[in-house]
Amino acid sequence: MRSVRPAQILTMAAFALALVYLGWLGYGALPALLPTPTPTPIPEFDGANALALAQVQCDFGPRPSGSPANRRTGDWIVDELEAHGWTVEAHEFLWNGVPVRNLIAKAGPPGHPSGNVMVGAHYDTRLVADQDPDPGRLQEAVLGGNDGASGAAVLLEMARVLDKEKLPAEVWLTFFDAEDNGNLAGWEEWAIGSTRLAEDLAAAGDLPAAMILIDMIGDTEQRIPFEGNSDPALSQAIWDLAAEMGYGDSFPQTPGPAMIDDHIGFIRQGVPSVDLIDFDYPYWHTTADTCDKLSAESLERVGKVLVRLLEEGRVQDVLAGPPTAPATEGEP
Ligand SMILES: [Zn+2]
Repeated sequence: MRSVRPAQILTMAAFALALVYLGWLGYGALPALLPTPTPTPIPEFDGANALALAQVQCDFGPRPSGSPANRRTGDWIVDELEAHGWTVEAHEFLWNGVPVRNLIAKAGPPGHPSGNVMVGAHYDTRLVADQDPDPGRLQEAVLGGNDGASGAAVLLEMARVLDKEKLPAEVWLTFFDAEDNGNLAGWEEWAIGSTRLAEDLAAAGDLPAAMILIDMIGDTEQRIPFEGNSDPALSQAIWDLAAEMGYGDSFPQTPGPAMIDDHIGFIRQGVPSVDLIDFDYPYWHTTADTCDKLSAESLERVGKVLVRLLEEGRVQDVLAGPPTAPATEGEP
């Protein structure tokens, strides 16, 4: 043990005080040395996220209208939408005793002169895999990786990333039920949910100004040609934007098949509508339509085109029509 002299104690105390002081200075100075906090960046549409959102749906199992898995999927969709700040309305009715539930999520400013835009996809899956190459599996349910989950997944990822402040008008992300049991006993028709929704919105005087449908858009060999029943001007604007974004290979500007799909009910009510569908899919209505057939890149291309289309008000531009040329006088 050695003795400590008072002078040493003073020196040590001064040193300790200095350390505390410098530490306090450093603490105070630290935030000032860090870069000024920047606002949270606007999230971009992420294909991997969309793929994960499709996988969640596949994990619920086959999701035909009226089934417990369909109900659970719908409840999960509502939770996801509300978590991203969307207001969700349910549109429900019975079809031959089976409960059908469409879900409509709204955001953005209402009252735009060229109106609100619906972007839709069906979330139900077909009761039976009646196109399966194996005759023993024709009565099994379809899991609906591409025919069901892909479109709903893109809508949900859009709900996360759409900049609500930028939207020129209301966007209605709409999840249709009862699309996919056409030609089956007790169902007969396709697109039952969307058709009834269009009729009810028309009766209420509350139709959207335009409707864009996505269906079967997620496979690896993505090729979405023009759809035969779609509005030509609105289609052209979407395909031109896709080309502008470098996605021309996935959006060839060639005529494709005319489809009976969820846009038809809206076309019947006079709403300009477009169906983005890649019907060239070998697993359509088979037990092999599973989520492993999906491509994150394919989902991302469709999502990014739609986000820009909506945020930049390009639908409203088409609906407003070309600027009117000044009237010329004295010409026939
Ligand atoms: Zn189908």
